[in-house]
Amino acid sequence: MKKIAVLGSTGSIGTQTLDVVRANGDIQVAAIAAGSNIKMLEAQIREFAPSVCGVWDEDKAKELAGNVSDTNTKIVSGMDGLMEIAEMDGYEILVTAVVGMIGIRPTIAAIKAGKDIALANKETLVTAGHLIMPLVKEHGVRLLPVDSEHSAIFQCLNGEHGNKIDKILLTASGGPFRGWTREQMKSVKLEDALKHPNWSMGRKITIDSSTMVNKGLEVMEAKWLFDVEMDDVQVVVQPKSIIHSMVQFEDGAVMAQLGTPDMKLPIQYALYYPERRPMGGDRLDFWAMKEITFDKPDFENFRGLALAYEAGKAGGSVPVVFNAANEMAVAKFLNREISYLEITDIIEASMRNHKKRENPTLEEILQAEQETYEFIKGDWGK
Ligand code: NDP
Ligand code: MG
Repeated sequence: MKKIAVLGSTGSIGTQTLDVVRANGDIQVAAIAAGSNIKMLEAQIREFAPSVCGVWDEDKAKELAGNVSDTNTKIVSGMDGLMEIAEMDGYEILVTAVVGMIGIRPTIAAIKAGKDIALANKETLVTAGHLIMPLVKEHGVRLLPVDSEHSAIFQCLNGEHGNKIDKILLTASGGPFRGWTREQMKSVKLEDALKHPNWSMGRKITIDSSTMVNKGLEVMEAKWLFDVEMDDVQVVVQPKSIIHSMVQFEDGAVMAQLGTPDMKLPIQYALYYPERRPMGGDRLDFWAMKEITFDKPDFENFRGLALAYEAGKAGGSVPVVFNAANEMAVAKFLNREISYLEITDIIEASMRNHKKRENPTLEEILQAEQETYEFIKGDWGK
């Protein structure tokens, strides 16, 4: 019996992870955690009987503890709770499906405790990849990508026995505003940005996909996961999300992984790697599909992608600022406090304001995050 813990069990990736658990029937869920959705957590506790459940919000944690006092699940809260789950015995794979930099500390703690990581929480690797990758090596654990593009790249590298990657071709749908100018994007409403053409995901990543900041985060994620330079990752727009990404080798051969847009495949692949399990759902129908089209990304109108390359190449604390600024700007946009284009304006202003630190420690990463939030709260130099 495989045993897992899921941080972010009530979210898009978290619930799909539990769908995979349900469909397979041979995985035990040792722990779950979420922010505040205690109604769903209670249902998950009753279905999966985890030994520990974390709730970020302390009051909600108390309320949940009262509601499930008839079960054997221990309720923990806050960062201490996430850390307790990361370090506890009784499971092998931690699925990191929380959203944002909140995932850094538990991910590091779990690696140190010898857990394999099924990584959905890309913000953690983008901001702390220089700390995480050496730890993964040192503790001999696996870092298994859940992000569909990175799972595709990981699958393309199967059987390559360390053959050098010449180039990663990271596919992008281009989002709902593909082909738009910034002038046209001025009037984008929250509701428009929350409509992704191919994938149904959490709110933050859906906005990130529309600005192409998500693709920028993914280029940085690929840099760490596959030990390549930013310029070795080429973003290729492929609007239908059929090719999930490709790898070009030194002899010019290109390997690709294709499939319908369904996150359950990369989730299941990460949980059972290297085994493939049967999975229901639609199959690609190449006769019906007829064509797959490709394009170059528009770096001018999608500033977020250009800024991500800049941040990734600068390294040090700059990706932290890029990511933290985006997290706060997207939260503000979701709250209808700023306009759509201000998301990338805030990222840019934060990067320009920042004095880079090389090789930031965990404390320095969290400090750069706070400084970025303070800068944005102080009207971000407007
Ligand atoms: P969601 O917003 O759907 O879910 C986020 C989850 O994190 C929820 O369970 C939420 O709990 C929990 N959470 C939020 N804050 C905290 C906190 N402080 N402590 C503990 N738990 C918390 O996000 P997604 O599932 O879409 O994304 C999760 C991660 O996976 C992101 O990093 C994203 O970039 C990545 N990813 C997502 C994909 C997708 O298809 N959705 C694809 C590829 C990557 P609550 O419900 O209580 O708020
Ligand atoms: Mg992705």
